[in-house]
Amino acid sequence: GVSANPVHVKSMPQTMGTVSQYACQRRTTLKNYNNIFTDAFEILSQNYEFIESEGPCLAFMRATSVLKSLPHAIHSLQDLEGLPFLGDQTKDVIEDILECGHSSKVQHVLSDDRYKAFKLFTSVFGVGLKTAEKWYRRGFRSLEEVKADSSIHFTKMQKAGFLYYDDISRAVSRDEASAIGQIVEDTVHLLVPDALVVVTGGFRRGKEFGHDVDFLITTPETEKGEGILHNVINELKHQGILLYYDIVDATFDKTKLPSKRFEAMDHFEKCFAIIKLNKKLVKCDGQEESAGGKDWKAIRVDLVVPPVDNFAFALLGWSGSRQFERDLRRYAHYEKKMILDNHGLYDKTKKTFLSAKTENDIFAHLGLDFIEPWERNA
Ligand code: ATP
Ligand code: MN
Ligand code: MN
Repeated sequence: GVSANPVHVKSMPQTMGTVSQYACQRRTTLKNYNNIFTDAFEILSQNYEFIESEGPCLAFMRATSVLKSLPHAIHSLQDLEGLPFLGDQTKDVIEDILECGHSSKVQHVLSDDRYKAFKLFTSVFGVGLKTAEKWYRRGFRSLEEVKADSSIHFTKMQKAGFLYYDDISRAVSRDEASAIGQIVEDTVHLLVPDALVVVTGGFRRGKEFGHDVDFLITTPETEKGEGILHNVINELKHQGILLYYDIVDATFDKTKLPSKRFEAMDHFEKCFAIIKLNKKLVKCDGQEESAGGKDWKAIRVDLVVPPVDNFAFALLGWSGSRQFERDLRRYAHYEKKMILDNHGLYDKTKKTFLSAKTENDIFAHLGLDFIEPWERNA
Protein backbone atom coordinates (compact mmCIF):
# COMPACT_ATOMS: atom_id res chain seq x y z
CA GLY A 1 0.00 0.00 0.00
CA VAL A 2 0.92 3.66 -0.01
CA SER A 3 2.68 4.88 3.08
CA ALA A 4 2.26 8.43 4.30
CA ASN A 5 5.90 9.33 3.90
CA PRO A 6 6.37 13.00 4.79
CA VAL A 7 9.28 13.31 2.38
CA HIS A 8 6.96 12.50 -0.52
CA VAL A 9 4.45 15.02 0.80
CA LYS A 10 7.06 17.75 0.74
CA SER A 11 8.00 17.06 -2.84
CA MET A 12 4.42 17.35 -4.03
CA PRO A 13 3.36 20.92 -3.33
CA GLN A 14 -0.24 20.48 -4.45
CA THR A 15 -1.16 17.64 -2.12
CA MET A 16 -1.85 17.11 1.58
CA GLY A 17 -3.32 20.51 2.27
CA THR A 18 -0.31 22.53 1.18
CA VAL A 19 -1.50 25.82 -0.30
CA SER A 20 0.49 27.06 -3.30
CA GLN A 21 1.79 30.61 -3.35
CA TYR A 22 0.36 30.90 -6.89
CA ALA A 23 -3.37 31.46 -7.45
CA CYS A 24 -3.06 29.50 -10.71
CA GLN A 25 -2.29 26.40 -8.61
CA ARG A 26 -5.33 26.90 -6.40
CA ARG A 27 -9.02 26.36 -7.15
CA THR A 28 -10.90 29.43 -5.98
CA THR A 29 -14.67 29.26 -6.38
CA LEU A 30 -17.11 32.02 -5.42
CA LYS A 31 -17.78 30.26 -2.11
CA ASN A 32 -15.70 32.33 0.27
CA TYR A 33 -15.64 31.04 3.85
CA ASN A 34 -13.50 33.92 5.03
CA ASN A 35 -15.23 37.04 3.76
CA ILE A 36 -15.14 38.78 7.14
CA PHE A 37 -11.35 38.75 6.76
CA THR A 38 -11.09 39.25 2.99
CA ASP A 39 -13.53 42.20 3.05
CA ALA A 40 -11.26 43.85 5.62
CA PHE A 41 -8.10 43.02 3.63
CA GLU A 42 -9.60 44.42 0.44
CA ILE A 43 -10.31 47.75 2.11
CA LEU A 44 -6.76 47.93 3.47
CA SER A 45 -5.28 46.89 0.14
CA GLN A 46 -7.26 49.53 -1.72
CA ASN A 47 -6.21 52.16 0.79
CA TYR A 48 -2.57 51.25 0.16
CA GLU A 49 -3.25 51.58 -3.56
CA PHE A 50 -4.70 55.06 -2.97
CA ILE A 51 -1.61 56.18 -1.05
CA GLU A 52 0.60 54.48 -3.67
CA SER A 53 2.11 51.99 -1.25
CA GLU A 54 2.65 49.20 -3.75
CA GLY A 55 4.30 46.61 -1.50
CA PRO A 56 1.66 46.47 1.24
CA CYS A 57 -1.09 46.77 -1.39
CA LEU A 58 0.16 43.64 -3.16
CA ALA A 59 0.76 41.83 0.15
CA PHE A 60 -2.86 42.31 1.22
CA MET A 61 -4.15 41.33 -2.25
CA ARG A 62 -2.15 38.10 -2.11
CA ALA A 63 -3.30 37.30 1.42
CA THR A 64 -6.91 37.97 0.37
CA SER A 65 -6.55 35.59 -2.53
CA VAL A 66 -5.10 32.80 -0.34
CA LEU A 67 -7.97 33.07 2.16
CA LYS A 68 -10.55 33.02 -0.66
CA SER A 69 -9.17 29.67 -1.83
CA LEU A 70 -9.57 27.90 1.53
CA PRO A 71 -12.34 25.26 1.79
CA HIS A 72 -13.02 26.27 5.40
CA ALA A 73 -13.23 29.30 7.67
CA ILE A 74 -10.31 30.54 9.76
CA HIS A 75 -11.18 30.20 13.46
CA SER A 76 -7.87 30.92 15.12
CA LEU A 77 -4.37 32.16 14.39
CA GLN A 78 -3.16 28.55 14.39
CA ASP A 79 -5.30 27.95 11.29
CA LEU A 80 -2.97 30.31 9.41
CA GLU A 81 0.09 28.18 9.93
CA GLY A 82 1.82 27.25 6.67
CA LEU A 83 -0.32 29.56 4.55
CA PRO A 84 1.64 31.73 2.09
CA PHE A 85 1.44 35.53 2.38
CA LEU A 86 -0.16 35.53 5.83
CA GLY A 87 2.55 37.44 7.65
CA ASP A 88 2.50 39.58 10.78
CA GLN A 89 0.62 42.52 9.21
CA THR A 90 -2.26 40.39 8.07
CA LYS A 91 -2.25 38.32 11.28
CA ASP A 92 -2.81 41.46 13.38
CA VAL A 93 -5.94 42.26 11.40
CA ILE A 94 -7.24 38.70 11.67
CA GLU A 95 -6.54 38.67 15.41
CA ASP A 96 -8.51 41.91 15.83
CA ILE A 97 -11.47 40.50 13.93
CA LEU A 98 -11.37 37.17 15.78
CA GLU A 99 -11.27 38.97 19.13
CA CYS A 100 -13.77 41.79 18.68
CA GLY A 101 -15.57 41.25 15.39
CA HIS A 102 -13.91 44.14 13.61
CA SER A 103 -10.51 45.62 12.82
CA SER A 104 -9.67 49.05 14.21
CA LYS A 105 -7.27 49.57 11.31
CA VAL A 106 -10.09 49.06 8.83
CA GLN A 107 -12.43 51.37 10.75
CA HIS A 108 -9.75 54.02 10.70
CA VAL A 109 -9.37 53.70 6.91
CA LEU A 110 -13.14 53.79 6.35
CA SER A 111 -13.36 57.15 8.11
CA ASP A 112 -10.26 58.55 6.40
CA ASP A 113 -10.84 61.60 4.20
CA ARG A 114 -8.49 60.59 1.42
CA TYR A 115 -9.80 57.02 1.26
CA LYS A 116 -13.42 58.20 1.13
CA ALA A 117 -12.71 60.78 -1.58
CA PHE A 118 -10.63 58.37 -3.72
CA LYS A 119 -13.27 55.64 -3.39
CA LEU A 120 -15.94 58.09 -4.54
CA PHE A 121 -13.95 59.71 -7.37
CA THR A 122 -12.67 56.44 -8.85
CA SER A 123 -16.25 55.14 -8.90
CA VAL A 124 -16.76 57.46 -11.89
CA PHE A 125 -16.10 55.81 -15.29
CA GLY A 126 -12.92 57.36 -16.71
CA VAL A 127 -11.49 58.48 -13.37
CA GLY A 128 -8.27 56.78 -12.27
CA LEU A 129 -5.81 57.41 -9.49
CA LYS A 130 -4.21 60.43 -11.19
CA THR A 131 -7.47 62.31 -11.59
CA ALA A 132 -8.67 61.36 -8.11
CA GLU A 133 -5.42 62.72 -6.69
CA LYS A 134 -5.84 65.98 -8.61
CA TRP A 135 -9.40 66.49 -7.41
CA TYR A 136 -8.52 65.55 -3.85
CA ARG A 137 -5.65 68.06 -3.81
CA ARG A 138 -7.94 70.78 -5.07
CA GLY A 139 -9.99 70.19 -1.94
CA PHE A 140 -12.96 68.43 -3.48
CA ARG A 141 -14.69 65.83 -1.32
CA SER A 142 -17.94 65.15 -3.16
CA LEU A 143 -18.97 64.60 -6.79
CA GLU A 144 -21.27 67.62 -6.54
CA GLU A 145 -18.28 69.83 -5.74
CA VAL A 146 -16.36 68.44 -8.72
CA LYS A 147 -19.28 68.87 -11.12
CA ALA A 148 -19.93 72.42 -9.91
CA ASP A 149 -16.40 73.62 -10.75
CA SER A 150 -16.54 75.09 -14.24
CA SER A 151 -12.75 75.29 -14.55
CA ILE A 152 -12.29 71.51 -14.64
CA HIS A 153 -11.81 69.89 -18.02
CA PHE A 154 -13.52 66.52 -18.22
CA THR A 155 -12.58 63.86 -20.76
CA LYS A 156 -15.30 62.49 -23.00
CA MET A 157 -15.20 59.32 -20.92
CA GLN A 158 -15.65 61.21 -17.64
CA LYS A 159 -18.54 63.21 -19.07
CA ALA A 160 -20.28 59.92 -19.88
CA GLY A 161 -19.30 58.65 -16.45
CA PHE A 162 -21.13 61.50 -14.75
CA LEU A 163 -24.07 61.45 -17.17
CA TYR A 164 -24.82 57.74 -16.56
CA TYR A 165 -23.40 57.54 -13.04
CA ASP A 166 -26.56 56.25 -11.33
CA ASP A 167 -26.95 53.36 -13.78
CA ILE A 168 -23.35 52.25 -14.25
CA SER A 169 -22.41 52.51 -10.58
CA ARG A 170 -25.13 49.93 -9.93
CA ALA A 171 -24.18 46.27 -10.41
CA VAL A 172 -25.05 44.50 -13.67
CA SER A 173 -27.09 41.33 -13.03
CA ARG A 174 -26.61 38.02 -14.83
CA ASP A 175 -29.96 38.49 -16.62
CA GLU A 176 -28.94 41.95 -17.77
CA ALA A 177 -25.61 40.52 -18.97
CA SER A 178 -27.48 37.82 -20.97
CA ALA A 179 -29.72 40.44 -22.58
CA ILE A 180 -26.64 42.48 -23.56
CA GLY A 181 -25.02 39.26 -24.81
CA GLN A 182 -28.02 38.61 -27.08
CA ILE A 183 -27.78 42.12 -28.54
CA VAL A 184 -24.02 41.89 -29.14
CA GLU A 185 -24.30 38.39 -30.62
CA ASP A 186 -27.19 39.31 -32.96
CA THR A 187 -25.38 42.42 -34.12
CA VAL A 188 -22.09 40.62 -34.77
CA HIS A 189 -23.80 37.73 -36.59
CA LEU A 190 -25.77 40.14 -38.77
CA LEU A 191 -22.40 41.26 -40.13
CA VAL A 192 -20.32 38.07 -39.94
CA PRO A 193 -22.52 34.97 -39.44
CA ASP A 194 -19.70 32.65 -38.35
CA ALA A 195 -17.95 35.07 -35.98
CA LEU A 196 -17.35 33.85 -32.46
CA VAL A 197 -18.80 35.88 -29.56
CA VAL A 198 -17.77 34.82 -26.06
CA VAL A 199 -18.51 36.35 -22.67
CA THR A 200 -15.38 36.74 -20.54
CA GLY A 201 -14.57 38.60 -17.31
CA GLY A 202 -16.50 38.03 -14.10
CA PHE A 203 -19.58 36.51 -15.74
CA ARG A 204 -17.48 33.76 -17.30
CA ARG A 205 -16.22 33.02 -13.78
CA GLY A 206 -19.83 32.51 -12.70
CA LYS A 207 -20.34 35.77 -10.84
CA GLU A 208 -23.96 36.83 -10.31
CA PHE A 209 -23.11 40.53 -10.61
CA GLY A 210 -20.47 42.58 -12.39
CA HIS A 211 -19.46 46.16 -13.02
CA ASP A 212 -19.57 45.62 -16.78
CA VAL A 213 -19.99 42.86 -19.39
CA ASP A 214 -16.86 41.73 -21.27
CA PHE A 215 -16.91 40.10 -24.71
CA LEU A 216 -14.34 38.63 -27.06
CA ILE A 217 -15.20 38.66 -30.75
CA THR A 218 -13.16 36.81 -33.35
CA THR A 219 -13.56 35.55 -36.89
CA PRO A 220 -12.22 32.15 -38.03
CA GLU A 221 -11.19 33.71 -41.34
CA THR A 222 -9.19 36.88 -40.83
CA GLU A 223 -10.38 38.60 -44.05
CA LYS A 224 -14.02 38.46 -42.97
CA GLY A 225 -13.07 40.17 -39.74
CA GLU A 226 -11.76 43.31 -41.44
CA GLY A 227 -13.39 46.29 -39.78
CA ILE A 228 -15.78 44.11 -37.81
CA LEU A 229 -15.59 46.24 -34.65
CA HIS A 230 -16.27 49.48 -36.51
CA ASN A 231 -19.17 47.83 -38.29
CA VAL A 232 -20.64 46.47 -35.04
CA ILE A 233 -20.36 49.90 -33.45
CA ASN A 234 -22.05 51.53 -36.44
CA GLU A 235 -24.84 48.99 -36.31
CA LEU A 236 -25.40 49.59 -32.56
CA LYS A 237 -25.41 53.33 -33.28
CA HIS A 238 -27.98 52.72 -35.99
CA GLN A 239 -30.15 50.82 -33.49
CA GLY A 240 -30.04 53.92 -31.29
CA ILE A 241 -28.65 52.06 -28.27
CA LEU A 242 -25.04 53.26 -28.24
CA LEU A 243 -24.71 55.86 -25.46
CA TYR A 244 -20.91 56.08 -25.47
CA TYR A 245 -17.99 54.40 -27.17
CA ASP A 246 -14.24 54.68 -27.42
CA ILE A 247 -12.62 52.50 -30.05
CA VAL A 248 -8.97 51.65 -29.50
CA ASP A 249 -7.34 50.49 -32.72
CA ALA A 250 -5.03 47.48 -32.74
CA THR A 251 -1.36 48.18 -32.16
CA PHE A 252 -0.38 44.57 -32.30
CA ASP A 253 3.09 43.59 -33.41
CA LYS A 254 3.60 39.84 -33.77
CA THR A 255 7.37 40.14 -33.73
CA LYS A 256 7.50 41.74 -30.27
CA LEU A 257 8.05 39.67 -27.15
CA PRO A 258 5.17 39.43 -24.69
CA SER A 259 5.30 42.13 -22.09
CA LYS A 260 6.41 41.29 -18.57
CA ARG A 261 4.64 44.22 -17.01
CA PHE A 262 1.30 43.02 -15.78
CA GLU A 263 -1.51 45.55 -16.00
CA ALA A 264 -0.05 46.71 -19.32
CA MET A 265 -2.93 47.15 -21.73
CA ASP A 266 -2.96 44.60 -24.50
CA HIS A 267 -2.72 45.61 -28.14
CA PHE A 268 -5.96 44.17 -29.46
CA GLU A 269 -8.55 46.27 -31.19
CA LYS A 270 -11.19 47.01 -28.56
CA CYS A 271 -14.06 49.22 -27.59
CA PHE A 272 -15.13 50.56 -24.20
CA ALA A 273 -18.82 51.29 -24.55
CA ILE A 274 -22.02 52.14 -22.71
CA ILE A 275 -25.11 50.49 -24.13
CA LYS A 276 -28.73 51.45 -23.51
CA LEU A 277 -30.53 48.29 -22.42
CA ASN A 278 -34.30 48.24 -22.74
CA LYS A 279 -35.63 46.70 -19.51
CA LYS A 280 -38.28 44.77 -21.44
CA LEU A 281 -35.45 42.66 -22.88
CA VAL A 282 -34.31 41.54 -19.41
CA LYS A 283 -35.74 38.16 -18.47
CA CYS A 284 -36.05 38.73 -14.77
CA ASP A 285 -36.00 42.46 -14.21
CA GLY A 286 -36.01 43.13 -10.48
CA GLN A 287 -38.39 45.66 -8.96
CA GLU A 288 -35.38 47.95 -8.83
CA GLU A 289 -36.66 51.47 -9.55
CA SER A 290 -34.46 53.66 -11.67
CA ALA A 291 -34.29 57.43 -11.42
CA GLY A 292 -36.86 59.19 -13.55
CA GLY A 293 -38.80 55.98 -14.09
CA LYS A 294 -37.08 55.36 -17.41
CA ASP A 295 -37.54 52.01 -19.13
CA TRP A 296 -33.84 51.44 -19.84
CA LYS A 297 -30.54 51.07 -18.02
CA ALA A 298 -27.08 52.19 -19.15
CA ILE A 299 -24.65 49.23 -19.08
CA ARG A 300 -20.85 49.29 -19.40
CA VAL A 301 -19.64 46.89 -22.10
CA ASP A 302 -16.11 45.94 -23.21
CA LEU A 303 -15.63 44.45 -26.69
CA VAL A 304 -12.24 42.96 -27.55
CA VAL A 305 -11.32 41.67 -31.02
CA PRO A 306 -8.19 39.46 -31.03
CA PRO A 307 -6.95 37.66 -34.15
CA VAL A 308 -8.05 34.01 -34.10
CA ASP A 309 -4.46 32.83 -33.47
CA ASN A 310 -4.34 34.82 -30.22
CA PHE A 311 -7.87 33.95 -29.15
CA ALA A 312 -6.99 31.41 -26.43
CA PHE A 313 -4.51 33.82 -24.84
CA ALA A 314 -6.98 36.70 -25.02
CA LEU A 315 -9.70 34.51 -23.48
CA LEU A 316 -7.41 33.44 -20.64
CA GLY A 317 -6.24 37.03 -20.11
CA TRP A 318 -9.68 38.62 -20.10
CA SER A 319 -11.35 35.98 -17.94
CA GLY A 320 -9.53 37.12 -14.79
CA SER A 321 -9.61 37.43 -11.90
CA ARG A 322 -6.91 40.07 -11.84
CA GLN A 323 -5.07 38.21 -9.09
CA PHE A 324 -5.33 34.94 -11.03
CA GLU A 325 -3.82 36.70 -14.06
CA ARG A 326 -1.03 38.25 -12.02
CA ASP A 327 -0.09 34.88 -10.58
CA LEU A 328 -0.24 33.11 -13.97
CA ARG A 329 2.35 35.57 -15.27
CA ARG A 330 4.41 35.38 -12.10
CA TYR A 331 4.34 31.57 -12.22
CA ALA A 332 5.29 31.53 -15.92
CA HIS A 333 8.18 33.89 -15.26
CA TYR A 334 9.68 32.41 -12.07
CA GLU A 335 8.83 28.72 -12.41
CA LYS A 336 9.02 28.23 -16.19
CA LYS A 337 11.21 31.04 -17.55
CA MET A 338 8.37 31.93 -19.88
CA ILE A 339 6.64 35.21 -20.59
CA LEU A 340 2.85 35.14 -20.72
CA ASP A 341 0.53 37.97 -21.67
CA ASN A 342 -2.84 38.43 -23.39
CA HIS A 343 -1.25 37.78 -26.81
CA GLY A 344 0.93 34.77 -26.35
CA LEU A 345 3.46 32.69 -24.48
CA TYR A 346 7.19 32.89 -25.06
CA ASP A 347 9.68 30.28 -23.88
CA LYS A 348 12.90 32.11 -23.04
CA THR A 349 14.93 28.90 -22.84
CA LYS A 350 13.83 27.64 -26.27
CA LYS A 351 13.63 31.20 -27.59
CA THR A 352 10.30 30.43 -29.22
CA PHE A 353 6.59 31.29 -29.05
CA LEU A 354 4.32 28.46 -27.91
CA SER A 355 1.04 28.41 -29.80
CA ALA A 356 -2.33 27.47 -28.32
CA LYS A 357 -5.80 26.83 -29.72
CA THR A 358 -7.47 26.48 -26.33
CA GLU A 359 -6.93 27.53 -22.74
CA ASN A 360 -6.11 23.88 -22.04
CA ASP A 361 -3.11 24.14 -24.36
CA ILE A 362 -1.78 27.12 -22.39
CA PHE A 363 -2.12 25.40 -19.01
CA ALA A 364 -0.39 22.37 -20.53
CA HIS A 365 2.51 24.49 -21.86
CA LEU A 366 2.90 25.89 -18.34
CA GLY A 367 2.78 22.44 -16.75
CA LEU A 368 -0.30 23.44 -14.76
CA ASP A 369 -3.46 21.45 -14.03
CA PHE A 370 -6.38 23.03 -15.86
CA ILE A 371 -8.30 25.45 -13.67
CA GLU A 372 -11.91 26.00 -14.76
CA PRO A 373 -13.04 29.62 -15.20
CA TRP A 374 -15.30 29.39 -12.10
CA GLU A 375 -12.26 28.24 -10.11
CA ARG A 376 -10.35 31.41 -11.02
CA ASN A 377 -12.09 33.73 -8.56
CA ALA A 378 -8.81 34.35 -6.79
P1 ATP B 1 -16.24 42.95 -12.84
O1 ATP B 1 -17.40 42.12 -12.46
O2 ATP B 1 -15.94 44.02 -11.84
O3 ATP B 1 -16.34 43.49 -14.23
P2 ATP B 1 -14.07 41.48 -13.94
O4 ATP B 1 -13.21 40.39 -13.43
O5 ATP B 1 -14.88 41.18 -15.16
O6 ATP B 1 -14.98 41.98 -12.76
P3 ATP B 1 -12.87 43.62 -15.52
O7 ATP B 1 -12.33 44.91 -15.05
O8 ATP B 1 -14.05 43.69 -16.40
O9 ATP B 1 -13.14 42.75 -14.20
O10 ATP B 1 -11.69 42.87 -16.24
C1 ATP B 1 -11.76 41.53 -16.69
C2 ATP B 1 -10.39 41.03 -17.01
O11 ATP B 1 -9.91 41.64 -18.18
C3 ATP B 1 -9.39 41.36 -15.91
O12 ATP B 1 -9.06 40.20 -15.21
C4 ATP B 1 -8.16 41.90 -16.61
O13 ATP B 1 -7.13 40.96 -16.53
C5 ATP B 1 -8.58 42.08 -18.03
N1 ATP B 1 -8.55 43.49 -18.43
C6 ATP B 1 -9.39 44.45 -18.02
N2 ATP B 1 -9.11 45.63 -18.59
C7 ATP B 1 -8.07 45.41 -19.42
C8 ATP B 1 -7.32 46.20 -20.33
N3 ATP B 1 -7.60 47.48 -20.51
N4 ATP B 1 -6.32 45.61 -21.01
C9 ATP B 1 -6.05 44.32 -20.84
N5 ATP B 1 -6.72 43.50 -20.03
C10 ATP B 1 -7.71 44.03 -19.32
MN1 MN C 1 -15.93 42.72 -16.19
MN1 MN D 1 -14.13 45.04 -18.29
